[in-house]
Amino acid sequence: HVDMYAIPVFRRETRFGTLFVHRDITREYELDLMKSELVSTVSHELRTPLSSVLGFTELLLSKTMKPEKQLKYLETIHREAQRLTDLINDFLDLQRMESGTQQYCQQPLNLSELVMGVIDQYKVGGTHNFLFEDEASNAEVEVDRDKIVQVMTNLLSNAIKFSPGASEIKVSLHNEAERIIVQIQDHGLGIPKNQIGQLFQKFRRVDNSASKRIGGTGLGLAICKEIIEKQKGSIGIESEEGEGSTVWFSLPVLHSPGSRHEDEPMKP
Ligand code: ADP
Repeated sequence: HVDMYAIPVFRRETRFGTLFVHRDITREYELDLMKSELVSTVSHELRTPLSSVLGFTELLLSKTMKPEKQLKYLETIHREAQRLTDLINDFLDLQRMESGTQQYCQQPLNLSELVMGVIDQYKVGGTHNFLFEDEASNAEVEVDRDKIVQVMTNLLSNAIKFSPGASEIKVSLHNEAERIIVQIQDHGLGIPKNQIGQLFQKFRRVDNSASKRIGGTGLGLAICKEIIEKQKGSIGIESEEGEGSTVWFSLPVLHSPGSRHEDEPMKP
């Protein structure tokens, strides 16, 4: 984006030329765009859960009702308050990412165990079935545990959220050229081909009615990308609209059983 203006140039009161000034305003333009996206996301995503918290608390305060009904309303209030907390945490993460103050605490760990631990949390009372296929057992990576848990949580909750009618989600791990690859495959709504590439940008969401109905901030994938790339990995999506999506990320392997050291001669 370029801002251009023209200045007439005079010498002894005679105009003899024009000076054209071109200024690259891409950064300003992007900041403006981000601000307006932020305002619309905040106004929608904060107001919806807040009005439901207000509405249900008012109902509870104004009427006597059966305990079962009270419990149902309280559960809704709790869920909506949780949504607000998640949203605020996403905003804070994003702010830390932008200002470069996000701290990483690297430690060697077994990625299969970490992934399995996150899946287990979703299994209890959930709506979806998880298949776990581990072809990289005991492969170690050096990462910030909490951040990778955050990535897994984001990707699994997207897989669940965007596959309301298809209950099976497959998570698999395998090795490929000194990297360990984690894939999360769902059979849900899928993503139109022309929109896949943009979804790792902040606030980007699939532009259709199904996606709008489901709701979200459009920050999750941007946060995942930042975390994975900071740990020398990469992340991507493959998807067929109406068929489902596979989101994958890869991380450098620290050790895996049978993995060869750089200076070790290759066995015939
Ligand atoms: P959010 O889920 O809060 O909207 P994300 O950044 O996590 O934000 O995802 C951005 C968008 O990418 C989603 O709104 C959705 O349109 C699309 N998306 C992400 N994961 C999936 C998936 N597994 N299946 C279909 N669409 C997805």
